[in-house]
Amino acid sequence: MNIIDIFETMEYGPAPEAAAPGLAWIKEHQPFGLFINNQWVKPASGKYIDSINPSTAKPLTQVAAANSKDVDAAVAAARKAFETWGKTPGHVRARYMYAIARHIQKHSRLLAVLESLDNGKPIRETRDIDIPLVARHFYYHAGWAQLMEQELPGYVPVGVVGQIIPWNFPLLMLAWKIAPALAMGNTVVLKPARYTSLTALKFAEIIQEVGLPPGVVNILTGEASQVGEALVRHPDVNKIAFTGSTDVGRSIRRATAGSGKKLSLELGGKSPFIVFDDADLDSVVEGVVDAIWFNQGQVCCAGSRLLMQEDIAERLVAKLRVRMEHLRVGDPLDKAVDIGAIVSPGQLKEIQRLVDQGVEEGAEMWQPSWACPAEGYFFPPTLFTNVSPATTIAQVEIFGPVLVAMTFRTPAEAVALANNTRYGLAASVWSENINLALDIAPKIKAGSVWINCTNLFDATSGFGGYRESGFGREGGKEGLYEYVRPAWEANETAVELPIANESTSSNGAKPRSHEEEGGEMEDGTNGYRATLPAIDRTPKMFIGGKQVRPDSGYSRDVYDPQGRVIGQVGEGNRKDLRNAVEAAHAASGWATGTTYNRAQILYYIAENLSAREDEFARRIVQQTGRLYAGASAEVQAAISRLFSYAAWSDKYEGAVHRPPLRGAVLAIPEAIGVIGMACPDEYPLLGFVSLVAPAIAMGNTVVVIPSQQSPSSATDCYQVLETSDLPSGVVNIVTGERDTLSQVLADHDDVDAMWYFGPLEGCKQVELASAGNMKRTWVSYGHTRDWLDTMQGEGEEFLRESTQVKNIWIPYGE
Ligand code: NDP
Repeated sequence: MNIIDIFETMEYGPAPEAAAPGLAWIKEHQPFGLFINNQWVKPASGKYIDSINPSTAKPLTQVAAANSKDVDAAVAAARKAFETWGKTPGHVRARYMYAIARHIQKHSRLLAVLESLDNGKPIRETRDIDIPLVARHFYYHAGWAQLMEQELPGYVPVGVVGQIIPWNFPLLMLAWKIAPALAMGNTVVLKPARYTSLTALKFAEIIQEVGLPPGVVNILTGEASQVGEALVRHPDVNKIAFTGSTDVGRSIRRATAGSGKKLSLELGGKSPFIVFDDADLDSVVEGVVDAIWFNQGQVCCAGSRLLMQEDIAERLVAKLRVRMEHLRVGDPLDKAVDIGAIVSPGQLKEIQRLVDQGVEEGAEMWQPSWACPAEGYFFPPTLFTNVSPATTIAQVEIFGPVLVAMTFRTPAEAVALANNTRYGLAASVWSENINLALDIAPKIKAGSVWINCTNLFDATSGFGGYRESGFGREGGKEGLYEYVRPAWEANETAVELPIANESTSSNGAKPRSHEEEGGEMEDGTNGYRATLPAIDRTPKMFIGGKQVRPDSGYSRDVYDPQGRVIGQVGEGNRKDLRNAVEAAHAASGWATGTTYNRAQILYYIAENLSAREDEFARRIVQQTGRLYAGASAEVQAAISRLFSYAAWSDKYEGAVHRPPLRGAVLAIPEAIGVIGMACPDEYPLLGFVSLVAPAIAMGNTVVVIPSQQSPSSATDCYQVLETSDLPSGVVNIVTGERDTLSQVLADHDDVDAMWYFGPLEGCKQVELASAGNMKRTWVSYGHTRDWLDTMQGEGEEFLRESTQVKNIWIPYGE
């Protein structure tokens, strides 16, 4: 071939990366052991599983198959190490993490080669994206280890963390999990995916090299049924962090329900890639290549649904086909290859099955004219057009190099199509009109939105999902909270509230009489004998801004501590809750209103509550038998709490991140949507206000089940809410049996989060039921809080639970 021929065809020659260093490393280390307490140990089962090179379909080596005995040993090692590591100063942890980052860079080429051999992804990606990002994560989190004491005062590490990662970004997912865990002082037992364990084992060697104390990081290779499940169920594990499929995420949610384990789940996606007609179509084409053919499309946030404005659809599809024709599929170690191998035969089969189904369902399939290599697990880039939004390929995560294209006419239609999925991981928006792009970004239900770019990641900017894409964030400051808990939890003591019939008060002094305290007399008249019978006040439900009768037509008695009936409230049921959830959804405009307006309304609620302070205090006395002074302090605290969240409403603002690119990332805390909440019994008014106020301050709408024992403090709020300009449906209140009602809310697919403050068994039921739509839960595990204490009863923890962070990436420059 002469130079003229080369210019004629512009064919790439081969540019192979040597496999030899990777293969030599494997040979030197096999048989691989398990990494426990900084030592290589044989698996208790004595068994090993094959590790296959997906680009040749030939075995690379074997890795140890751990079982539950190894899990016990690793957890015990991590527990022991936690005793010291959890108290190691931040600066010392930072030094270790800095060393890990440096060693990753020192071994970067070997890690890149191993990753490509083991996973099948192109060396260009492992060398230029995966491994540099791994180092970046450790550097970034070394910084948080250094700053933890100043930046997260009042927080302590969670303890022993079980981490389970998938095969699509083996070392990067390890870094996303291990770096924040170590930075916050936790110890780790990590299970890599069975297909891709090699870089985790090389990482273990790095841990030895840097001299991390034994037991801080333990790595167990093996199968899900032997290692993953045992780790999830282990009683001495304090948190599970998982990335993988939504189905497994759901089973982990169920398995950990009621255990008190903290949980973060990063699950699947079906992310939209939205192209408006004023977008730069040549950039769009390159964007699509990165969105769906990066890592063979095996990316949880892959832009797998191409949504095109109708008038440019034909042109864009034509350009895409030309580009697809020039993509190169082949040996992952060839530096001129765009698309490598699919991770396993099973995954390849699944992609083929879904593609066949797409054709059967009537969509039009297009693939380039060339053929994939015959050896190994390869699949060509594939484009579906003429796709209807309800079909399987438009809804199901294919996790392969398959793009489904649909059209829209208006921005509103684009948003509707984009959100027409149970997932909510990411989205890309393409338009040369920044006003349009920034108008669309907040309307899309997804954790990351990339404007005129796609698949950008950085440690500064948290990553994670909305809806069935899971909960919790990895990266950014928000990601740190997944690995800490409030320090006060460790010192928790039961809350004891002085009640009026005790002979002495808690400070030993004889309590003032009920009458002296301004409480009611035994006959309920407070010393005033009415000449007329009292006018009956039986509260109804509060739904959609109206007081409505309970659907059941039943009421339930409310008792005082002596067991005397002091009133009735409605017996709420499934239908009342259904109506309340509908009303809460109808009030979704609350989230898009101004924070200034929300603040004003919260102040106004406080003002109206304050006008009836005495009445509310007396009601608390009546329901709880507590002293008037204590009850009055509760009302005061509730008013102050409303002020706090009015204040926070326009101050809990998020951040502007500066990742290493020309641009900025806006990290915006957004409302979650409709939150169901079951209030604690301890403080009937303050508990109610402490939950409702942060939720609505952040733009959520709520369906509240008041304290079952003492619901009247919440029902007395109807008139306060009605006279405070609160839009209808923002707060809905359904009284009744707490656990029955909570179950309905936790099961409800249109409720986005569920908070429950009650007994442990109720917490478990809520967590179990939440797995249906993977709603976020916040439960008390049967513990009580001192709601009067501002450390425990208000602040950032409540604001975090009321929001989910969306990161909007805005690169700039021409
Ligand atoms: P899984 O969710 O099954 O696996 C992810 C990790 O979880 C692996 O380490 C796996 O172990 C482990 N695991 C599996 N089941 C359990 C369990 N019951 N308890 C504890 N750990 C468990 O993903 P797959 O590899 O099977 O891929 C299936 C589909 O999942 C893909 O087609 C894709 O749609 C989606 N997926 C999504 C990812 C994402 O990043 N969101 C990543 C990977 C897959 P082992 O490897 O031993 O099976």
